[in-house]
Amino acid sequence: MIDTHAHLVDEKQTDVDKIIKKAVGVGVKKIVLAGSNIEDSVKNVLLTEKYKGILYPAVGIHPQEKISEDSQIDRWLKKLEKLIKENEVIAIGECGLDYSQLNENDRQIKINRQEKLFRNQICLSLKYKLPLIIHARKAVDETVEILSQYKKTQGVFHCYAGGKKRIKKVDSLGKNWYFGFDGNLTYEVGLEEVVKMVNKNRLLLETDSPFLTPIPYRGEKNQPAYVKYVYEKVARIWEMKVSEVEKIVDKNAAKLMGLV
Ligand SMILES: [Zn+2]
Ligand SMILES: [Zn+2]
Repeated sequence: MIDTHAHLVDEKQTDVDKIIKKAVGVGVKKIVLAGSNIEDSVKNVLLTEKYKGILYPAVGIHPQEKISEDSQIDRWLKKLEKLIKENEVIAIGECGLDYSQLNENDRQIKINRQEKLFRNQICLSLKYKLPLIIHARKAVDETVEILSQYKKTQGVFHCYAGGKKRIKKVDSLGKNWYFGFDGNLTYEVGLEEVVKMVNKNRLLLETDSPFLTPIPYRGEKNQPAYVKYVYEKVARIWEMKVSEVEKIVDKNAAKLMGLV
């Protein structure tokens, strides 16, 4: 099993050790650490050094990251590129658009800033040939529209929230685009139908730890070991053995993120 999206850098070191041990114990072979800002991204890279072959770092700036002035964006992007150049990062993200918390008074400023940040991260992904980990909330159409303006993009719509009706749209971006599903698949009935419609060779599984905890641990903090419940859920939906799901999904993750 591979958890293709987790946040572990806010955990205490002793907890990280325990969390990783537990994940490995249940059969999780690799964990991709998603970055939400420069600080997290640096920590992802550092944490990975201690767990080579298990942890893999992504670096990126989340669309919800608070921006106080436009010049901040340029400073962040410079730091991000330096991180990419100097380390073995495997993906850029999470990045994208999130329109879930826009207020009337700053709506346009926020949209413009998110777009600038996103477009620049797309350019970095093309320049360094790295996949994008996309975070798109209430803005899947807008995210696809921007991505469609670039050639040879690749990535995953992490915690895919575009419903059945946008699967084709994402597919139209090309064969290097994937759909990520999380623990909410165990309790959001509508998502089962979405999973059924997604091409099996384009599906990735993730936890988004510490968020989106699956049943039977809903209400508690999530951790990569619990990706197991997402695999089991997909096995029931696909009417397959978990080991067969593992074969397909882990191959997808390895292909997109170059995990070996
Ligand atoms: Zn996200
Ligand atoms: Zn995340």
